[in-house]
Amino acid sequence: MTSSNVIIAEGALKRLNDILEGYKRPLIVSDVVIYDKYRQMMESIVDADVMWSISPDYRKGLVSRYRGIDVIIGFGGGRSIDMAKLFALEAGLDWISIPTAASHDGIASDVASVMHDGYRYSEKCKKPSFILADLSVMSTAPRILTLSGIGDMVSKASSLAEWRLANELAGEPLDEDVYGTVEFALETVLKDDNLETLVKSVIDTGNAMTDFGSSRPCSGTEHAISHAMDRRMQSLHGLQVAFATPLSLHFLDEAGYAKHRPSDIRDFLLERNMPVELKELDLTEATFLDDIHHAQKIMKKRGRYSVLTHCKASDDDLVRAINGLGY
Ligand SMILES: [Zn+2]
Repeated sequence: MTSSNVIIAEGALKRLNDILEGYKRPLIVSDVVIYDKYRQMMESIVDADVMWSISPDYRKGLVSRYRGIDVIIGFGGGRSIDMAKLFALEAGLDWISIPTAASHDGIASDVASVMHDGYRYSEKCKKPSFILADLSVMSTAPRILTLSGIGDMVSKASSLAEWRLANELAGEPLDEDVYGTVEFALETVLKDDNLETLVKSVIDTGNAMTDFGSSRPCSGTEHAISHAMDRRMQSLHGLQVAFATPLSLHFLDEAGYAKHRPSDIRDFLLERNMPVELKELDLTEATFLDDIHHAQKIMKKRGRYSVLTHCKASDDDLVRAINGLGY
């Protein structure tokens, strides 16, 4: 995606009508809160005859109800954006991403996260034809959603290190340009997590995944642990992956691949009141261990080399790490 397809600015939403030139019937996929808050504003900006879909859950076939639509707009948080991706895939239409919060790197990626039978899985979709990030809209998002986005960026400290390890020791493909893009985004946010920087970084990493063709650069064992946690809880993605990052980094450090100290990442999370202790996510040592075991299965199933497998981490090693890291 070229930068001409991305606008990050205060009031960016006002440009939507220009972007929609040539389209007659856009379907806006959103949620009820965003719909109530922005419906009037949206309909005053867009000349075309818009339709809204504010269904809370994705169901196959739902999009066929909206007759005559010729473009899909994902307007909202991660769930609305993911639903827009899936609708666009099903209907064979282009989709435009208008995130209302920088809650994770999916706002710019071509992968949708779908909940099915209590499990979360990823579905490959099309990348957005345009990303419109209105900072004045995004700045009113609940702080916890912005923190989630910061957490997803911080998790790259372990996903990148593990990617390097998996490349050098297990022959997984690695692209240096993509690595550099994600590393730059991570370092930028660690230095300064103001909204504009965060939004830019989140979009850059989403694009990096699309360029590479898989989520590997941005998703390692820390993400697999979060997916395992999803079996029991529904906390925010970015908070969960950030929570698991010091643990993953601890073993990456042992393997000689960590570029960040687990304690530095923990301090960074702590400073922002993000969860760092088991009880904050309703976990016990036993449930966390179970999630870590399950995560290793997820990694194996996806053909990804986990640092935990590399370190042959036993339950004793894991418990020692969990206690030592202050979980
Ligand atoms: Zn993520």
